[in-house]
Amino acid sequence: MTLSLDANATEPLRPEARAAVLAALDLPGNPSSVHAEGRAARRLLEDARATLAARFGARAQDVVFTAGGTEANALAVRGLAAGRRVLAGATEHPAVLRAAPGATLLPVLADGRIDLDALRAALAGGGPALVCLMAANNETGVLHPIAEAAALCRAHGALLHVDAVQAAGRVALDLGVADSLALSGHKMGGPKGAGALILRPGIDPAPIIAGGGQERGRRGGTEPLPAIAGLAAAAEAAQPDPRLARLRDAIESAIAALAPEARFPGATAPRLPNTSAITLPGVPAETQVIALDLAGIRVSAGAACSSGKVAQSHVLAAMGMGADAGCTIRVSLPWNVPDDAAERFVAAWAAMRAQTRQRAA
Ligand code: PLP
Repeated sequence: MTLSLDANATEPLRPEARAAVLAALDLPGNPSSVHAEGRAARRLLEDARATLAARFGARAQDVVFTAGGTEANALAVRGLAAGRRVLAGATEHPAVLRAAPGATLLPVLADGRIDLDALRAALAGGGPALVCLMAANNETGVLHPIAEAAALCRAHGALLHVDAVQAAGRVALDLGVADSLALSGHKMGGPKGAGALILRPGIDPAPIIAGGGQERGRRGGTEPLPAIAGLAAAAEAAQPDPRLARLRDAIESAIAALAPEARFPGATAPRLPNTSAITLPGVPAETQVIALDLAGIRVSAGAACSSGKVAQSHVLAAMGMGADAGCTIRVSLPWNVPDDAAERFVAAWAAMRAQTRQRAA
């Protein structure tokens, strides 16, 4: 039996989300139509909006549905940047970095967390700013100090956009002190194709897709009701699970015991409970991923979002890792990970290491 440990690429569909998608498929109306079918679709849409608002501490009218996490980030970054400098963490996801090509990058510490002194200095050094900081990094699971960063932003009159795509549902999190929060359905166990941008009251990003004025004019396009219903059901079902941290820690301690050369970038910082970056010096990540795949274990190298190719990780480079960055795989446990996952992964990893040592000898 195969074992998929690549939840940060996408979580398996939760049964609650599947049921919600199927029910929504039977509603034929367009939520913008005024007749009875349209109104039934509208009710489901607004229920989903209310669910997300309650789950993430916002008002329903401040939830904007998008086609996913990439679009939610792009809407915040492009829609709020007018008249502001954009300051972005160096380890942000391309969904943020590529939406703000002129952004000033803020360095991270060796453990992967944002350098708050650098943020303070950058905020002091210019006009109004939009700061983009992810709640959790997709490659290492490192959690950034959002509350501290938000206090600095407040003190300098800057807006704070938080990419919560990987953190939502895995750690306690709400809009809290941020001005906007990006979410993605499929990272919480919902279907692919729906996400949301959650806004603090009064924050009003300019639309990047104007279209027919849906979503209070903030995002044009007929709302994909089944995907949105699945997103809301997944958001309700996804709750922090201490079992994941136990399994992740079991994997790391077993590997540390059997391979003293192994390293775990970001492990000294607070992290998502489900994520481990594991470096095996001298063995390219792609080789490791393929060997594990042949053994039936699915993990990824660097950012799996970037279309199957293994690119140099800008995240590990920003943390000051040299050549070993290319020898790092990401193990990310899904919500339904089996209890024997740690044993099975460690056995396959040990066999992979033995093979590569034999080849090198
Ligand atoms: N932000 C982070 C931190 C991510 O990890 C990802 C996807 O991996 C995204 C944004 C993009 O989300 P989506 O796949 O829903 O477009």
